[in-house]
Amino acid sequence: MKIKFLGATTSVTGSCHLITTQGHKFLLDCGMFQGSDEMDRLNYEEFDFNPEEIEFVLLSHAHIDHSGRLPLLVKRGFKGRIYCTDATADLLNIMLRDSAFIQEREVEWKNRKNQRAGRPLVEPLYTMADTEAALSLVTPVLYDQLIELNGNIKVVFNDAGHILGSAIIEVFITEEDGVSKLVYSGDLGSRNRPILRDPKIIKKADYVIMESTYGNRIHERNSDSIEKLVDIVLKTIRRGGNVIIPSFAVGRTQELIYQFNRFYEEHSEIQRELRDVMVYIDSPMATSATEVFRRNAQVFDEETKEYILRGDHPLDFRNLRFTRTVEESVALNTDPQPKIIISSSGMCEAGRIKHHLKHNLWNPRSSIVFVGYQAVGTLGRSIVDGAEAVTIFGEKIHVEAEIYNLEGFSGHADRDGLLEWISGFRNKPAKVFLVHGEEEAKEAFAKTVKEALGYDCTVVSGNIEYTLAKDTVISVEEAMVERISPEALRQIKSRISSVHDDLERILYHTQLAVGSGLSPQQIIEIANIVLELEKQTLKLGSAVTLEA
Ligand SMILES: [Zn+2]
Repeated sequence: MKIKFLGATTSVTGSCHLITTQGHKFLLDCGMFQGSDEMDRLNYEEFDFNPEEIEFVLLSHAHIDHSGRLPLLVKRGFKGRIYCTDATADLLNIMLRDSAFIQEREVEWKNRKNQRAGRPLVEPLYTMADTEAALSLVTPVLYDQLIELNGNIKVVFNDAGHILGSAIIEVFITEEDGVSKLVYSGDLGSRNRPILRDPKIIKKADYVIMESTYGNRIHERNSDSIEKLVDIVLKTIRRGGNVIIPSFAVGRTQELIYQFNRFYEEHSEIQRELRDVMVYIDSPMATSATEVFRRNAQVFDEETKEYILRGDHPLDFRNLRFTRTVEESVALNTDPQPKIIISSSGMCEAGRIKHHLKHNLWNPRSSIVFVGYQAVGTLGRSIVDGAEAVTIFGEKIHVEAEIYNLEGFSGHADRDGLLEWISGFRNKPAKVFLVHGEEEAKEAFAKTVKEALGYDCTVVSGNIEYTLAKDTVISVEEAMVERISPEALRQIKSRISSVHDDLERILYHTQLAVGSGLSPQQIIEIANIVLELEKQTLKLGSAVTLEA
């Protein structure tokens, strides 16, 4: 087997890894390079393989830096299936369309300039039609289900706790010299995050490809970040300013909504002061993504599911407003009332956040609160790094607002979280490849792993191919031992019974709720949740008969 690293090798974006086995070629992710013009140019280069020869893509999650070149792959000849979880498929539907929309609009704008200057016209990276074609190849699968892709390759998608639908992918590959198991971490979340389940600990692997974004950092605790955020909000509102939160439309925004909701419920003393302070979600994409979250409650963690079963929705509260139209968004900048605006893009490179920064960065009464990773070269990174002035839409803006960077909201595990995950393997993997991190982060994490576990990690820098040969040959049964153990069967059976219980409880609550007047939208939401659970029960049922 060979692994060729083609993205996320010198930075954190453009994730794309080519696996070549005896008779098969497939990709792990096909993400977009992001962060600077130089990065953007990489997106236009030829792929380092023939897209027509790729049999399928295994997609870890919907973030554009992992999925954004899928339409390009299709445009250049890929015809296979794109496997991902249900929730990822749902998110892709809005995210890839949004990406195509941005590509088309930017080219339109460039071409108007080109035309005026007598320069040749340029083509978008891909169009909405390419995106539609890519979406038609998306094949959703369920978490924890063993799926046979062909005679030689089986896969399992496990929860990665990073964003809704995110997965750690286990790939079982049969070749002449036996069976190898490759584990691709995708992006790993932290444990005990709101809404999402914890990243699954995988016990066995021959080869591991692992992210290392925060391989050299320790996050502050999530609860500390929430307290700080609340303090910032109170301070800013009291002095008559706005709180601007640049946030990734998918994941971070929903987590912030969840946290604000909890905060309002738990602090009645502050509720009065904040009762007229509106929280605006000013991003059409975040609004659509929040709807996807509300539709996919079946993959929420237990705590959040219970919350829903109590009859409340964790992603809604009285002061929350979603703004869709441009007019609504522009109106926020003329409204003198202090307010909280959560808007994207998260690194301030595009989208409505740029307008809000332009209208608030100069204002010493306002606060800008960063809650996610800011890549080198982005507007967000320069503000976090303390720039005195920045240029937005060609205008120089002085930075007078208070700037905060709260790392406890990160969707990525920190050094200790990453170490805990890699410590879960019971046998030493033959090779661990570190990708998806800045150079210092990868090097530092490799050192940490060496000291703690004695593993030699390979720090992947630049696009390199590795040929992997096993010293020990194992059989399919040995490779699958984790999946077909009595313990695994017990777990599957207990999950089925819990799904049955959930169904009964939901039906009971639905009857109660319908009696007390539920909106059609809410009834549809509940119906969707029940359908999803039912689907899961059926598929898990068939998995048990197969394996028993
Ligand atoms: Zn991600």
